Amino acid sequence: MKPISEIYSLLESPKQVAITFHQKPDGDAMGSGLGLYNFLIQLGHTVTVISPTNWASFLSWMPGSKNVVDFEMNTEKAKTILNRAEWLFCLDFNVLNRTKKMEPVIESLNAVKILIDHHQQPQTEAFDYGISDVKKSSTAEMVYDFIVAAGYADKINADAAECLYAGVMTDTGSFRFNSTSANVHRMVAALKDKGLQHSQIHENLFDNFLESRFRFFGNILLNRMEIFYEYNAALIAIPQSDLIKYNVKTGDTEGLVNFPLSIKGIKLAAVIIDRGDERKSSFRSKGGFDVNTFARKYFNGGGHFNAAGGKNSETLDEVIRKFKAAIKENKEQLNS
Ligand code: 5GP
Ligand code: MN
Repeated sequence: MKPISEIYSLLESPKQVAITFHQKPDGDAMGSGLGLYNFLIQLGHTVTVISPTNWASFLSWMPGSKNVVDFEMNTEKAKTILNRAEWLFCLDFNVLNRTKKMEPVIESLNAVKILIDHHQQPQTEAFDYGISDVKKSSTAEMVYDFIVAAGYADKINADAAECLYAGVMTDTGSFRFNSTSANVHRMVAALKDKGLQHSQIHENLFDNFLESRFRFFGNILLNRMEIFYEYNAALIAIPQSDLIKYNVKTGDTEGLVNFPLSIKGIKLAAVIIDRGDERKSSFRSKGGFDVNTFARKYFNGGGHFNAAGGKNSETLDEVIRKFKAAIKENKEQLNS
């Protein structure tokens, strides 16, 4: 993978561009993707954002989101666009299997592949150009840095600013995580200077849920949360029947893992959801417990030091047993 600075001078000639990110995109994936989209279209590029899967409805206010193509829903259309793309930007993922069914398609493309990402241990051989920096708060921050370094700060319009802000704000837990550097605050200051209305974005993202999500949370916290004080760990395991009963939609479970993590003394919190086709897990830690390694070792996943995820093909009960065995194995680290 060659440094991304080598493409700066190529940005001025219009191209067919596709942008993608990880499946079930979060605020940072969608925000960095649409931030880049709203920038590139101003330079005259023909740009399409392709999401590997559907996304949470609370992301659909983002400028440009109406034009995003869902690969699972519109596979043929997405493949046509990908096949004619000269450039493919890959945002907010480190390994191609994070794009789910798009992985073999991406592998077969002739397009120049450009990675912008902040996850650990990226599959750099899969990309032609790129930048990977685990110290960065978010991919949105990296897209912002990319645009500024290429000499196009003046092309960050209100639409791009809203998307990039949403990305950096959600990935920093509203600017509370350690990754919230001075550079992040300088970026936000620059976006504010461009007229960014930030409180509207918080409302769009956090004050737009349906009642059913909170009834679901109530049930989960009452009936599905288990605390293992001996290991400073907590687990929420959600059977598929709960998802059906409470009409749970994509994105509704986001943030759930933070409830057990906020319990005094808890260093590791996990949510394991039976999505039917796979058992999807989310891990969060406070302090010195490395969930990236934990997710890699036991749950076919990865991510960051304090936030990671994974997926398993075993039954929910088997994955729960795996989690219980894993915390036993990590008792010392969880108690230090
Ligand atoms: P979340 O729990 O919010 O889904 O994910 C937390 C972090 O872990 C994110 O940075 C995400 O990209 C990463 N992550 C989540 N699931 C997986 C996975 O299945 N594989 C890998 N490699 N990373 C994941
Ligand atoms: Mn991210």
